[in-house]
Amino acid sequence: MATSHQGFDFIVIGAGMAGASVAAELATHGRVALLEMERQPGYHTTGRSAAIFAPVYGPQPIRALTRASGDFFATPPDGFAEHALISPRPIMMIAREDQADKLGAMMAEVASEGIGEQLNATETRDLQPMLRDGYAVGSVLDRSGQDIDVAGLHQGYLRAFRRSGGVLVTNATVAAMQRTAKGWQVSAGGQDYAAPVVINAAGAWADEVGALAGAGAIGLVAKRRTALMIPAPEGVDTGPMPLTNDIEEQFYMKPDVGQLLVSPANQDPMPPCDVQPDEMDIAICIDRIERAFDLTVRRIENK
Ligand SMILES: Cc1cc2nc3c(=O)[nH]c(=O)nc-3n(C[C@H](O)[C@H](O)[C@H](O)COP(=O)(O)OP(=O)(O)OC[C@H]3O[C@@H](n4cnc5c(N)ncnc54)[C@H](O)[C@@H]3O)c2cc1C
Repeated sequence: MATSHQGFDFIVIGAGMAGASVAAELATHGRVALLEMERQPGYHTTGRSAAIFAPVYGPQPIRALTRASGDFFATPPDGFAEHALISPRPIMMIAREDQADKLGAMMAEVASEGIGEQLNATETRDLQPMLRDGYAVGSVLDRSGQDIDVAGLHQGYLRAFRRSGGVLVTNATVAAMQRTAKGWQVSAGGQDYAAPVVINAAGAWADEVGALAGAGAIGLVAKRRTALMIPAPEGVDTGPMPLTNDIEEQFYMKPDVGQLLVSPANQDPMPPCDVQPDEMDIAICIDRIERAFDLTVRRIENK
């Protein structure tokens, strides 16, 4: 028979970045159970991101949210992290001749937020010397971009959560939820947990988890994005180079400790799952990267 764990004020479902951070904040207000279906937290999207803080990226509401996180990343609370959570990584949105009109449009959008500067072809190549001569006619550069220590950030939240008395349960797939007189009974990993409030932070699975509680779907669509690590060309110091993103997001490349993280920036709808890279996306990625940059992909380190 399932043991029933009572006395919680909040149950958070999913221990990725969203669940870990909301659980850490709530744990200072009440008793929190954080339920994660995998053996370790952060296994899905959180553990697979390109780890970039990009104030210039995305539509206006996303840019505003990104900016709002900046102070926390730059100066996290005492005891949250052993190292700095961010380090400078300028972001360069490059445009080919056929995309030249996108440069002005992007500048017009972000200039009012005090971010971005427009560079011509020479200035673009000075900062990103790996670009093929003549490939880009210009770029929008955001000098406020940063690398995020995602593992440090995620672990910082989980540590803060535990310090406040939060209970993390792994191998705990939430399989059923029932309304009770006092709130909710949540069944996960053969155990029951009770609390008045449940927070759904199940990422790609959020609609499915919501349905367990009888909530209507909000239409979340899980999407696969493929990314690979390739060796940096020999003798090239990629360390100071910007993250280089096609202005229409057809690909991006980010230096990562002697290697390059590259992606075709695909967003293929698919059911939520333990997503694996697709061979066609890998081929498309290599083709786009080799067209833009002066390099030949001979080996894939990781994908
Ligand atoms: C290739 C790629 C690159 C990215 N690059 C960046 C970037 O550079 N910068 C940036 O800011 N963002 C980036 N992102 C986005 C960022 O990674 C996500 O927004 C973030 O990780 C989402 O966190 P999450 O907690 O919502 O989801 P997840 O990390 O997926 O967490 C959801 C958790 O819920 C758990 N769960 C699901 N169902 C259940 C259940 N029934 N019971 C219990 N647990 C359950 C899952 O196991 C999972 O651990 C990138 C994403 C991808 C895919």
